[in-house]
Amino acid sequence: MARAAATAVLDRPGVPVPMPWHRAAWMAAAASQVPSILVHGPAGIGERRFALSLAAYWLCEAPPGTDARPCLECPSCKLVEAGNHPDLRVIEPASMAAENDDAEADDEGAEEKGKGKAASQAILIGQLRPLTELAQISSHRGGARVVVIHPADAMNIAASNALLKMLEEPPAGMRFLLVAHRLQRVSATVLSRCMRVALPMPTGAQAVPWLEAQGVEDPATALALAGGAPQVALDGADPVRAALSRAWLRCVTDGSVTALSAARETKDIGAPQVLSWLVQWTHDLARVKAGAGPRYHPRQVPALQRLSAAMTLRAITRLHRTLALRQRWIRHPLNAQLTLEALWLDYFQGIGGR
Ligand SMILES: [Zn+2]
Repeated sequence: MARAAATAVLDRPGVPVPMPWHRAAWMAAAASQVPSILVHGPAGIGERRFALSLAAYWLCEAPPGTDARPCLECPSCKLVEAGNHPDLRVIEPASMAAENDDAEADDEGAEEKGKGKAASQAILIGQLRPLTELAQISSHRGGARVVVIHPADAMNIAASNALLKMLEEPPAGMRFLLVAHRLQRVSATVLSRCMRVALPMPTGAQAVPWLEAQGVEDPATALALAGGAPQVALDGADPVRAALSRAWLRCVTDGSVTALSAARETKDIGAPQVLSWLVQWTHDLARVKAGAGPRYHPRQVPALQRLSAAMTLRAITRLHRTLALRQRWIRHPLNAQLTLEALWLDYFQGIGGR
């Protein structure tokens, strides 16, 4: 009975509750009274959910229970869930909010957009200025005021310095929750002001049943494709993305596809995702060539064997490196279609023709 109730709560869409594999980290963070906490771990394992859940818990107006969770029923929890709690600020790069608009805008004004995009991937000082005001007014609902910064390693230097001032002398009743993927990119002084909580990557045995409970078909494959990150697997499992992923897979497994037709077929996916999948694919090609099992594409062993049989391990490794190097600049493509064509040319030349 108790288990069924817990599952029902976890399954409610949009509800901020932490992932089951973060329970130990959760208990440590929830028990702490320090004003600033930094949670860190690989991207896509539920870290954003963890931060929002903790914010909800800090703001929750119900009497605390033994399980240290937000009640999800009080007015405060409902405001967090709806994304408009007056005492909560979630600061993220503008690009995260604009991700859905990208595909449409890619065709026009690519150069102009390139500039805007480069700026919007960082957290800028302007986004932190309203916090000074938040510090000066009293809490709307009489509880804490909470600032979530996600990801903290996206703050530029000016933003990081502005935040540091607040962390050094936290305004009364204000709490800070930072999420970071690469600790070496967070300034040492900011780090020194925060309690650190490490979020572990789940094992397959933890993540697969969870994905299954979220209604993901073939959760083991989805998890492998996402490199073991369950939130990425869940996001990728929506039907539109699944169709795009199939279109991409056709390009690498169907012998009649050329670089130009592949670029056309994968136009809606976008160069960064196409590249990221190609990097994983060539990683698997090298593994299969070396006699190991694929890491990302467990269902594609025949295609991987066929392609890798026609290549030397050295050629595969060279192709993998070329593609991996391209990831450094792919985030700001000047011309989306040309970039895609260049990527696919690299790939098809690398595997020996077409
Ligand atoms: Zn509550």
